[in-house]
Amino acid sequence: LSLTDMVKTQRICVCVRKRPLNKLEETRKDIDVISIPGNGSLLVHEPKHKVDLTKYLENQAFQFDYSFDETTTNEVVYRFTAKPLVYAAFEGSMATCFAYGQTGSGKTHTMGGDFRGKNQNSSTGIYYFAAREVFSLLSHRTYSHLNLSPYVSFFEIYNSKVFDLLNDKAKLRVLEDERQQMQVVGLEEVFVSEVEDVIKLIELGSACRTSGQTSANANSSRSHAVLQIALRCNDRASTLYSKFSLVDLAGNERGQDVNSNDRNTLNETAEINTSLLALKECIRSLGQNKDHIPFRMSTLTRVLRDSFIGEKSKTCMIAMVSPSMASCDYTINTLRYADRVKEL
Ligand code: ADP
Ligand code: MG
Repeated sequence: LSLTDMVKTQRICVCVRKRPLNKLEETRKDIDVISIPGNGSLLVHEPKHKVDLTKYLENQAFQFDYSFDETTTNEVVYRFTAKPLVYAAFEGSMATCFAYGQTGSGKTHTMGGDFRGKNQNSSTGIYYFAAREVFSLLSHRTYSHLNLSPYVSFFEIYNSKVFDLLNDKAKLRVLEDERQQMQVVGLEEVFVSEVEDVIKLIELGSACRTSGQTSANANSSRSHAVLQIALRCNDRASTLYSKFSLVDLAGNERGQDVNSNDRNTLNETAEINTSLLALKECIRSLGQNKDHIPFRMSTLTRVLRDSFIGEKSKTCMIAMVSPSMASCDYTINTLRYADRVKEL
């Protein structure tokens, strides 16, 4: 992609990424039911009769802007998804990239790199590649005259409430002002002067996201995490020039807990369904150039209002899928959702 190609990219890009089978799935002799022939296509070999896996396979084909197989690196995924959005942000667009999919499908891996475990390395995800690009473009001759400064904020939406990940999970209110602008009141916005500053904030926020829970992963899978890089003009009012948002969405495994007696869990599930439905409707409206964008449907879409309003908004959704047969139903759900987002 050349620079001009990137700036001209379509308003909505929807792609899919398949992760490799993991150790546990291999031990369970789970099989890979997804193939990616290339050029944005993907096939699900859905078992028709689960009694005999090898004989009764039914293919379902899907088509997206890009499809990434299990050998694709985060950096390559970045190049086709978030990178054009970073360029768009320098052209004044509100740019937003979503990671969508069931828990364990690779959303956080793609966005943040791997924070957990022994091989902690946050310099391998889209957050990092995007931040690095922002600093390189700030000093690029095409954009340096704009005289912009980057600011980072990082928050979580859980049960339709907003928590500041850069301020010890302080609970924040979302207000709509008289110009219908959404304000997350009191949200930390930290000036960053180099990519290391951003990495520190990502690590701080990610640690904050998973802290205070016995089952850290379970909790983070039920919240949406939003990392934003705002570009502000170095004028006295620090006028907002554009905003680049990276959203690690809550796991979409809907209905999983319908048999739960736990009201909290039921409520969580309902909230997640509502916000993912709202998100789909908002992106679709953006794609259809509709005047009315139903962003008030959920807290997620309210705080991302700017991402859906305005002629220059651009969005990319990366739908993550697990290759395993055991996840097949969830995978089909994810692919159908992504398909609907794109369908005009
Ligand atoms: P999610 O955030 O969607 O719940 P994670 O990103 O935490 O899922 O991924 C679950 C596990 O799978 C993690 O251990 C992660 O490192 C691994 N994983 C995810 N995607 C990939 C990939 N493309 N290649 C290798 N490992 C991956
Ligand atoms: Mg995650």
